[in-house]
Amino acid sequence: MIKTKFNNNLWAKTANPVNPLPPLEGDIKADLIIVGGGFTGCSAALEASKNGLSVVLLEAETIGFGGSGRNVGLVNAGLWTPPNEVEDVLGKDAGEKLNTTLAAAPDLVFSLIDKYQIDCDATRNGTLHCAHSKSGLVDLQSRFDQQTERNAPVDLLSQSDTKLRTGSNAFHGALFDPRAGTIQPLSYCLGLATAAIGKTAQLFEKSPVTQIVRENQKWLVKTERGTATAPNIIVATNAYTNGEVPEQQPQFSLVHYFQLATEPLTQTERQNILPALEGCWDTAMVMSSFRFDRDGRFLLGSVGSLNHAASSAHKFWAQKKLAALYPQLAGKKLDYAWHGRIAMTKDHLPKIVEFGPNAYSVFGYSGRGIGPGTVFGTALARSISTGDKSHLPVAPLKQYREQMTSLSSLYYEAGATLTHGAFAIGRKMVGR
Ligand SMILES: Cc1cc2nc3c(=O)[nH]c(=O)nc-3n(C[C@H](O)[C@H](O)[C@H](O)COP(=O)(O)OP(=O)(O)OC[C@H]3O[C@@H](n4cnc5c(N)ncnc54)[C@H](O)[C@@H]3O)c2cc1C
Repeated sequence: MIKTKFNNNLWAKTANPVNPLPPLEGDIKADLIIVGGGFTGCSAALEASKNGLSVVLLEAETIGFGGSGRNVGLVNAGLWTPPNEVEDVLGKDAGEKLNTTLAAAPDLVFSLIDKYQIDCDATRNGTLHCAHSKSGLVDLQSRFDQQTERNAPVDLLSQSDTKLRTGSNAFHGALFDPRAGTIQPLSYCLGLATAAIGKTAQLFEKSPVTQIVRENQKWLVKTERGTATAPNIIVATNAYTNGEVPEQQPQFSLVHYFQLATEPLTQTERQNILPALEGCWDTAMVMSSFRFDRDGRFLLGSVGSLNHAASSAHKFWAQKKLAALYPQLAGKKLDYAWHGRIAMTKDHLPKIVEFGPNAYSVFGYSGRGIGPGTVFGTALARSISTGDKSHLPVAPLKQYREQMTSLSSLYYEAGATLTHGAFAIGRKMVGR
């Protein structure tokens, strides 16, 4: 059975070593408390401290323990939801604001990497969204039309060009986005944290927040061995929300996503595979992703958890998929396997909930959180620093509720397991 501990995560193995941060002890006062040390929390800490606020960030485990230290590392523009749909859900003006802000998200991510010299294997060579079928190509054509209407510099590649770029016969075409790129996500998150500390933010690890209360016009946050008090608070715990802060419990369905990584490929093995090192994912309903890391390991990922009785279906799928994409990699040893949680909202759009005065909870990037997490964290900090909410990419809601999230989480996992199981034994599932 595949091990799924955090330490079987490739990113945890190859991230630059950092000193552990102390847990919070005693009582501390600040201008802003941030709960959660992922992209959202760390970019908020950096921006707020850059703007002169005193910041306390409390992380339950270690920085990047959540989705931020486990993801594929595709720094994409926009959301997974196409821009027309975003405008249909939010309305023209609000949708356009979110689309425009997130179209520039890779610029923000790569500019922070440059500015703070974050060593995270940043490779801005674009991403390829690959059509796994003819209907996938129709989807890409529609995405291409919507993006070009908004002056995005995307390119729709033919089947033969896609073969040249990916080195695989498996695809019908691909949408190339040169604004995007890949990173070592945990190193990026740790780099944001280090930059925030450099600007005087105080970050604490192993400090799970157990209670958030309003007292004397301020927010009082309790951990096992300390408290923090501030007039402003951001809860950035997202898909890893620890159930002990129910007052601010974000609402979403949980979707798991796993990845496996080979040992470094030899030059002969990797010949023709992604010569320009784009990060890739496909149009399948149960999507797959693939990319190289800096050492030439090939990473393959898809929807699913590695922690249940039937999860060997995902492993068998991975071995078969690898051979289907690249026959020369058939039987290649998989050295790493890990998974993470994605917070999927019903409309697949991120939410900001203003749960009290100067108190925000942010969640639900629905699988696209490197750019959005950095943008939302930065924007929340800017809004709190200036008192100007127009910095926020979406209007904050007073509350947000979703029904039957456990059932839909189960549905996602069952669907992925059945699809992978069927692929592994050579059966096609009905559907796209
Ligand atoms: C496997 C996988 C692949 C993905 N691939 C991509 C990709 O290629 N590109 C992309 O853009 N996005 C991707 N995503 C999505 C992206 O990783 C997330 O949207 C993003 O990391 C969310 O960042 P965050 O800071 O909001 O939350 P997280 O990174 O999840 O951080 C939340 C933190 O809060 C902490 N916490 C929880 N409860 C408490 C508490 N009570 N007290 C203190 N701390 C607490 C947790 O320990 C955690 O560290 C992927 C996600 C996964 C899981």
